[in-house]
Amino acid sequence: MKTIFAQSVAGRTGVLSEKPEKNAAQMLPASLLRKQPPRLPELSELDVVRHFTRLSQRNYSVDSHFYPLGSCTMKYNPKFTEYVAALSGFSEAHPLLPQLSGGAAHAQGALQCIWEMEQWLCEISGMAASTLQPMAGANGEFTGVKLIAAYHQDKGNKKTKVICPDSAHGTNPASAVLAGYEVVNIASKDGMIDPEVLEAALTDEVAAVMMTCPNTLGLFEKHLTRIVEKLRRVDALLYYDGANMNAIMGKMRVGDVGFDVVHWNLHKTLGTPHGGGGPGSGPVGVSERLVPYLPVPRVEKGKDGLFTLNGAYPKSIGQIAPFYGNFGVMLKALAYVLRLGGEGLKRVSEYAVLNANYLRACLGDVLEIPYDRICAHEFVASAPGELHALDIAKGLLDKGYHAPTIYFPLIVKECIMIEPTETESKETLDAFIAALREVVAQGKSDPDALHAAPVRLPVRRLDETQAARSMVLTDDMG
Ligand SMILES: *Cc1c(COP(=O)(O)O)cnc(C)c1O
Repeated sequence: MKTIFAQSVAGRTGVLSEKPEKNAAQMLPASLLRKQPPRLPELSELDVVRHFTRLSQRNYSVDSHFYPLGSCTMKYNPKFTEYVAALSGFSEAHPLLPQLSGGAAHAQGALQCIWEMEQWLCEISGMAASTLQPMAGANGEFTGVKLIAAYHQDKGNKKTKVICPDSAHGTNPASAVLAGYEVVNIASKDGMIDPEVLEAALTDEVAAVMMTCPNTLGLFEKHLTRIVEKLRRVDALLYYDGANMNAIMGKMRVGDVGFDVVHWNLHKTLGTPHGGGGPGSGPVGVSERLVPYLPVPRVEKGKDGLFTLNGAYPKSIGQIAPFYGNFGVMLKALAYVLRLGGEGLKRVSEYAVLNANYLRACLGDVLEIPYDRICAHEFVASAPGELHALDIAKGLLDKGYHAPTIYFPLIVKECIMIEPTETESKETLDAFIAALREVVAQGKSDPDALHAAPVRLPVRRLDETQAARSMVLTDDMG
């Protein structure tokens, strides 16, 4: 440990001495020192490697299988981004370095990467400024609503409500409540926000409308400019949930349309896998009028070309994340954007939308498609006839596929939500179509057999009622 540290950090920066004067035992109070060494198990490297390899193989993952989960993009992410994030100059940089006196001089590369990534987000989304601090999509939403609240408070506006359509992602109303607002739900009409329905709910107390776009039905909202116009009249702001930016990159810039806040999910769109509770990044971009309230510290580039952390923004909502958020995820996003470039990012959106529409068109005769028109990066369907979405999902497990999202969004009956993502080949999509057709056919010819699925996996279908009523907790994972 000491040698690696000394070589890679102290060696380069010259600020840390290579040989600490005292060892750890001399620096700690005697009362905190162990009397006996800890009883650690002794394991061979091979045993440990086999253990973790076995565990990894128990997971269903995007590296091994197609993962058609809608709403939370689960796409393959290229491995070169992992390589970039693991470079020792990044991975061994101490997160406190920029804050130490004179430390920013030793963290120029890291600060430059953050600054450049923020510029890229502004460029792609058309916003005036952005922050990479928030650590997940929902954390970005919370940050965004806090920015909106700061704006209204600063202007002396008395606002208490946030409007969320029923086609918004579930985290939207939760974030609004967490930030202190009352949520007003409005019904979508034909899969879209209807400007008249919105107008009826639009009182002076409305602080903002949170729009998921494409919405949870996989549809791109049509009436954006009319909605922006209506909001301006009551000084309400417009929030864009851009978690699924892989549907619109290079096609539309939310800032150009008049949105005031947008959040991204770097761990869906730009080079980090989503899921497993791993580190995420939910940057927020804002229009000119929200810039003064952005979280501090902000990364800035001085006239001398040097990068600094600046906390001197008196109207800021404060610091949202420890240090500056999840740096590794930002690096992967930057590597991804630089590798793909503008044309590449545009192609990401084109393939994401093409793949979703291919599946929608090829499955239209076996599933019921309530909004049967061009979709964005995903589409929703209903299980046909008497079939249940749950049975279809379980049947797909037997065919070797991860289940699609089911029973979400709530506004579609027996809902099956499918997102193939831009990274899948036509062969994979065709095989999935064939599997899903077989499952539906089995459900129609032998519903009991489908109801028993999965039968080919080592585990059977859970009796969920039984599991909830008499839970058996065990540490034996079999
Ligand atoms: C995934 C997602 C979120 C939440 O992102 P997390 O990083 O999981 O908190 C919000 N909105 C939409 C539309 C999403 O797909």
